[in-house]
Amino acid sequence: MACPSCGHLDAGEFLGMPRVPVLCNVLLHARDEAISAPTAEISLSFCRPSSGGCGLVFNDAFKPELMRYTGQYENALHFSATFQKYADDLARSLVERHSLRGRRIIELGCGDGQFLAMLCRLGSNSGLGFDPAHDPSRSREQVDASPGSIDIISEYYGPAHAHHTADFIACRHVLEHIPRPDEFLRSIRRTIGDQRDTVVFFEVPNALWTIEQMGIWDIIYEHVLYFTPPSLSRAFSNAGLIPLRTDTVYSGQFLTIEARPGDVPAGFAAGLDHEQRRIEGLVDRFSERYREKLTQWVGVLDNLRRSSRRGVLWGAGSKGVTFLNVAAGPADQDNPFQHIVDINPRKHGCFVAGTGQQIVAPEALREIRPAVVVIMNPAYRDEIASQLRSLGVDAEVMVA
Ligand SMILES: [Zn+2]
Repeated sequence: MACPSCGHLDAGEFLGMPRVPVLCNVLLHARDEAISAPTAEISLSFCRPSSGGCGLVFNDAFKPELMRYTGQYENALHFSATFQKYADDLARSLVERHSLRGRRIIELGCGDGQFLAMLCRLGSNSGLGFDPAHDPSRSREQVDASPGSIDIISEYYGPAHAHHTADFIACRHVLEHIPRPDEFLRSIRRTIGDQRDTVVFFEVPNALWTIEQMGIWDIIYEHVLYFTPPSLSRAFSNAGLIPLRTDTVYSGQFLTIEARPGDVPAGFAAGLDHEQRRIEGLVDRFSERYREKLTQWVGVLDNLRRSSRRGVLWGAGSKGVTFLNVAAGPADQDNPFQHIVDINPRKHGCFVAGTGQQIVAPEALREIRPAVVVIMNPAYRDEIASQLRSLGVDAEVMVA
């Protein structure tokens, strides 16, 4: 199988997942619809650096024709104070570091335009966002708050938009969804043309966190690609974008890269070798550690079931949906997990794809009285613990 990033021909599977929902973040308003939501297989493969590959991890069984993003797709994370603060700090540091004042900013996959609006407000910049799943009713607030400075186009960014030039191009949580990242990055490079000062900023999930810290709930069908710092740098340099820096942020879970068009220095890939070898060792141990972690959770569930106690999950994003599908199973009567909490009101009353648990507001925990609250993201531990206290819910908190 050829690597979708570097074209190397020697990539091989190291983990198979037979049945996961195709879309974790789609809003499903009926339990039947949720249980029969489309599922598919993941075959995680690795482009081995030791045999000349770029170190990319990718789903070799991915079928792009299964992905149909619509307005019913919901992945906004800004309802969380923790995430909001992260995005705010990130926008400030980008504006400072790249002197983004009175500049033209493009964001690819901008969602409802919240981050773009932040970048524009902080430096009186003008912004142009692209997002095919853009729902104008949701972005009205962002656009109205920055009159005249923000525009959002409900299309994929491509050669047709080459006349929109930019000083700064941001793209967060998009690249991991794209089956041919090489073509996507080269097309951005071509679109930038001679504007060699343009800075390109990308943020993706950090696959090194997934394989080192066992963040196994981040392996989802929506993500075709799993980048580590060196494999991301390789993808950019292969496209003629020189990496200026990479950072791991958000408790290590995200990876950012800043790059600029130019000629990549000779020996650039060789400079990544040491880290690539270390990561290869982690990938080789991953499948065994993955199974150990799943076995632990099956044990926790059995304990709850035997003692007729309830558990709830907190966080109905991709991680929570994956936990239910891979570890907990369908919301049958004897499943201790019947509900999943989320603070995003758009999700309340909806059901989890594949397993059918209902998504409820935190206040519902007063009625449900769970013995255990499993939180999906350690970054939210303090935020959730304080919400549980204010709800008067006395439950054991576990991190998935
Ligand atoms: Zn590769």
